[in-house]
Amino acid sequence: MKKVLIIGGGGGGLILANHLDTNEFDVTIVDKSDLHFYQPWFLYIAFKGSKRKISRPIGELVRPGVNFVKDEITEINLDERKAYGSRKVVYNYDYIAIATGTSPDPDSIPGLRQIYDEYGDYHSNVYNSQKLWSHVKNFKGGTIAIGQASPTCKCPPSLLEGAFLLEERLRGMGMSVGTSDPLSPSNENDPTKTGEKGKSRIVFFTPFPRAYSAEPMNKVVEPMVKERGIEVMPFFDVDTIDVQNKTINSLEGDSLKYDLPIIVPPCKGPKIKFTPETVQDEERFIKADKNFMKIPGYDDAFAIGDCNTLPTSKTGVTAHLEAMTVSELIQGKYSEFNGRINCPFDTAYGKATFVIADYNNPVVPYPPTATKHFMKMSMARIYWMTLMGTADPIFERFFNITKPEKLNRKYSVPE
Ligand SMILES: Cc1cc2nc3c(=O)[nH]c(=O)nc-3n(C[C@H](O)[C@H](O)[C@H](O)COP(=O)(O)OP(=O)(O)OC[C@H]3O[C@@H](n4cnc5c(N)ncnc54)[C@H](O)[C@@H]3O)c2cc1C
Repeated sequence: MKKVLIIGGGGGGLILANHLDTNEFDVTIVDKSDLHFYQPWFLYIAFKGSKRKISRPIGELVRPGVNFVKDEITEINLDERKAYGSRKVVYNYDYIAIATGTSPDPDSIPGLRQIYDEYGDYHSNVYNSQKLWSHVKNFKGGTIAIGQASPTCKCPPSLLEGAFLLEERLRGMGMSVGTSDPLSPSNENDPTKTGEKGKSRIVFFTPFPRAYSAEPMNKVVEPMVKERGIEVMPFFDVDTIDVQNKTINSLEGDSLKYDLPIIVPPCKGPKIKFTPETVQDEERFIKADKNFMKIPGYDDAFAIGDCNTLPTSKTGVTAHLEAMTVSELIQGKYSEFNGRINCPFDTAYGKATFVIADYNNPVVPYPPTATKHFMKMSMARIYWMTLMGTADPIFERFFNITKPEKLNRKYSVPE
């Protein structure tokens, strides 16, 4: 029996394992944690104080016949087909799939470690999301600077989702948001100048030229950003943070003062020593080809999900679809990943949209609706079924009826 070794029991790793025929393959998942987390819910912990249980033991999420081992892989030798665990255990394989996701790197920006430890964030883990909630719920007024510290981030919509949910929360707490002219940060109503309680500014900073990086979706959400008084600071790549003076400085030379900083740290690929080491890029992401997720030079090694260098968004849906393709390839069938993204995007006040595109079709300017919000909320319930493969028919149908080429014909208005 051929051995399939999967490193990482996140969305990508579990979906791959659960779609392999265990009568044909000896399948093992190795994860350094014994818990799997539903990461999209970090947002609702950080901005709504949700107490929903969002983790389940990985051992309970694998189908019968799939082995789960708790161990941290520190080294992988692709030439010798061996992976090494922290207790010097050696794992041999015929096929390997690396699905280790990303890890936050708050030490790569001066000052960020202190912010990360004190205020938390809404991307890293449950604990950090709870920490952020304790600051959001006790916020009395002033400027909240919210954004991403580097361009590489998982789930691009989640960044602006944070700003939207924050605005909804502050207003729910009886606060005003924005200067009277939201486009003029120097306005005299600026609460950082007047120090008035109950008045707040939300400044969303981003390294991209606009509030949402993909232009068609930006056209949908930018009017909402303005209407809600959220200010946008584009072309803002975080360089340093002066914690004493509560200022974030950008590489472009701008400075942003804050009372509450909400900063999504840069994310990196796995801390694993590879042979050959050229398979990782400078941010440790694992190089893989964009249609088959194969690590260049190796027919038996794949990188799926957030840990790879594919030119598509790092989302659970992409990890899911990449895993489905790799499961087919390992089982000797032809399959190709087309770069499909399908990321739900909560625009707050009970509405949501989806960011839908693939390698050949641009992002659909898909309007937010209450139905899409209901779908996003329902995902938290059916997520566990998607990992086991029992929701496949629903997803197949959904992906078919929401193909970007079809939706673009309906929603794209020619310039
Ligand atoms: C706030 C937020 C909102 C999001 N919203 C959405 C959304 O609405 N829709 C969507 O599709 N996606 C969303 N995402 C993104 C989605 O959660 C990730 O893209 C998805 O989890 C990636 O799956 P993965 O399998 O690649 O990695 P992960 O799910 O991160 O799993 C990686 C696993 O590898 C393990 N691991 C790491 N290193 C090692 C090692 N050395 N040895 C052993 N094990 C290791 C980890 O413990 C972990 O279990 C969101 C993410 C965030 C943070």
